Amino acid sequence: MGLLAELLRADAVQLSDRLPGGAQVQALAPAVWAVQPPAPGGRPLLLSAGIHGDETAPVELLCSIVDELLCSALAPRVPLLIAFGNLAALRAGRRYLDDDLNRLFGEAAQPVASRELPRAAVLKAATAQFCAVHGSALHFDLHSAIRDSRYPCFAIAPLAQGAPAESIPLDLLAACGIEAVLLTTATAPTFSAYTTRKLGCTAYTFELGRVREIGAGAVDEFAAAGACLRACIRGVALPPAAGLPRVFRVSRELIKQSEAFELCLGPATANFTALARGDLIARDGDSAWYAEPGECIVFPNPAVKPGLRAGLLVVAIDA
Ligand SMILES: [Zn+2]
Repeated sequence: MGLLAELLRADAVQLSDRLPGGAQVQALAPAVWAVQPPAPGGRPLLLSAGIHGDETAPVELLCSIVDELLCSALAPRVPLLIAFGNLAALRAGRRYLDDDLNRLFGEAAQPVASRELPRAAVLKAATAQFCAVHGSALHFDLHSAIRDSRYPCFAIAPLAQGAPAESIPLDLLAACGIEAVLLTTATAPTFSAYTTRKLGCTAYTFELGRVREIGAGAVDEFAAAGACLRACIRGVALPPAAGLPRVFRVSRELIKQSEAFELCLGPATANFTALARGDLIARDGDSAWYAEPGECIVFPNPAVKPGLRAGLLVVAIDA
């Protein structure tokens, strides 16, 4: 049975503690494993998927990678941490049960207990334990987007305080098939911002294609990411890339102020849709947002609770 089928049955999946090539496997938590090659070289790598339980294609990809490690089809050269996120939500086919796990990695104490809160603590502890041994890692947190995107594969790059935009390794992201990079600050309550901020990792949230059912073939849509992650695990040269990604920064956040908030863009608006200057983006009581030159919309979601972000406006900085 492959790892995916086992994860869908139970949390307590046991892997062999030694891979065919001699690498040691250590379970740091349920569905979190550290892999230590016998003669490691290259930057430690942290791979996570399933932080949102309905984003299953990246979970399928990461399970295939584990299956390949177990049968010696993939020989690791770098220290590796593999972490699956919200297992209960994955089995339920839901984004989360009580709380969005990818909003629980911030500094503020969470006021309300939820089924996700202990899992966030487990993931923080396991990644901290791994980085304490191996140093700061390269972290790819693998997601799929809820809506269509002008760039089907894109990355969110939380920049450490003071880090320049030029520090983003565009060639690495290009080799992963990433077509756009959105620069943000590492203060966000997301997993990749946490490993950047607290553990000194170079971390990315990857949005790979659209949310689909398990086995619907979505993994084929981001084969470049799979090939590049395997090259990183093997410590070999990156596969060739089609072209460098566009780079964007956040110009404004749309914060929903009240239940009167109304998105004026249409429910099917794709991520990174370019807006024309003066376009009405949203209304909320007496206030209204109009597009400024060069702005594009990302993650529009009018269904969030008041006080939360209902969308991002971004502009290209490499134009
Ligand atoms: Zn996600």
